[in-house]
Amino acid sequence: MNAPVKSLTGKTDWNSLIREVISGEWRDPATGRRCEVPFETIRIEETLDGGAADLVAPLKIGRKLAVVSDSNTVEAMGRRVARELRGWADVEEIVFPGDTHCDEPTIALMQEKTRHCEGCVVVGSGSLSDTVKFATFKDGRKYASFATAASMNGYGAGTASVTLANGYKTSVSAHAPRAVFVDLKVNAAAPPWLSAAGFGDSIVRPVAQVEWWAAHRLLGTSYSQTPFDLFHVEKDEELMIKTSPGYPAGSVEANGYLYRVLVLASFGNNIVGSSHSGSMGEHQISHWIDMFAGSAHPGSTHGQQVGVACVVLARLHRYLLSLDKAPRIRPTQISEMDFVRRYGDSIGRMMFAEAKKKSFDSEGAATFNRRLEEIWPQLRAELKAMMIDPDDLARMLKAAGGPVTPSDLGLPLNVWRKAMKHARDIRNRWSFLDLADDAGLLDDFLANDPQ
Ligand SMILES: [Zn+2]
Repeated sequence: MNAPVKSLTGKTDWNSLIREVISGEWRDPATGRRCEVPFETIRIEETLDGGAADLVAPLKIGRKLAVVSDSNTVEAMGRRVARELRGWADVEEIVFPGDTHCDEPTIALMQEKTRHCEGCVVVGSGSLSDTVKFATFKDGRKYASFATAASMNGYGAGTASVTLANGYKTSVSAHAPRAVFVDLKVNAAAPPWLSAAGFGDSIVRPVAQVEWWAAHRLLGTSYSQTPFDLFHVEKDEELMIKTSPGYPAGSVEANGYLYRVLVLASFGNNIVGSSHSGSMGEHQISHWIDMFAGSAHPGSTHGQQVGVACVVLARLHRYLLSLDKAPRIRPTQISEMDFVRRYGDSIGRMMFAEAKKKSFDSEGAATFNRRLEEIWPQLRAELKAMMIDPDDLARMLKAAGGPVTPSDLGLPLNVWRKAMKHARDIRNRWSFLDLADDAGLLDDFLANDPQ
């Protein structure tokens, strides 16, 4: 590929640590253990202009390639990548509409349109990348990804977020790309709200850590510090926050640190084997909005919703942890009829079966209360060291150019409150939304929270 252009940021190597983790050399300082991630190549560079063939050739994904972009990314990078690959590979250029959803018909269409190609190169983010991921997984082909916007942290994940025929959006097992390539200049030139959304999805750490640690202490859920350690080895989380006000001006450096955190977060998921380190109550709230806000859905995106949910959950954490006496839960009020009424027959029964698993009967509630009371003073101290001040979080999101409140999202307050109240229905993953609701504190909190 072309020699790298003069650094625009002063940081000469955006791939340190990332390379070390991929090669298996990195050891978690806390445990001394090596960590395995299923990636071969992740490259973050200030520019990759002219280099696509040299980047893709070693991946051995075939010489007949579909280059898939959408109407938003074709001009920014799709056409360029197709042009650079021509000559080395037989290239079929495919452009999807800009509002592609990763659902079953679109996955089938992607399989159909790319079926005569040996491998795929996707130039895009979010749903487009997930559609190619799942389509190639289904037919056993390989793919590589050129990221065009730092709007979410799913590029490197082995799972795809798919909307099933009944409307339920779920994370399904697929495969990781052979490589993820990030051209920071292209990403920094994308509309800045996309980076602000990615920031919303990446600032999750303190909120998720509080809930995951509490679940570990109270319910015995397994827990690992490694995903969080990764953010601190080279101060990536700190530098992401510090540079985040640079998104509106198209800062290459700010997008670089954001991508570092996005990539390290996907390593964390792979190392742990679950998404607990970056997906707790705040993600359930966002998923609930996407699935059930219906015609009230303002078109806001995952990362934007997650950012807003983080602020409100951080306030809920602050409130719960301000209580000197441990909250006491009652047996969970849960009924299949309510679920069916709320979500329809098919999704309702499916969600009920999942949510039932984490619900407490009277004996379970009594055991939980004993445990919570016993460790409350210590747990409060532990969680206070992890949590983030909600006002600081709100200031950070605002400075990054992202929405901070439900009304910034354009979401009616009654829909927001429903999302907060019922987000716990989404999956069998206990969070402080479960604690607050089972303790009879969530309704009051929502009525008084300054949303
Ligand atoms: Zn997310």
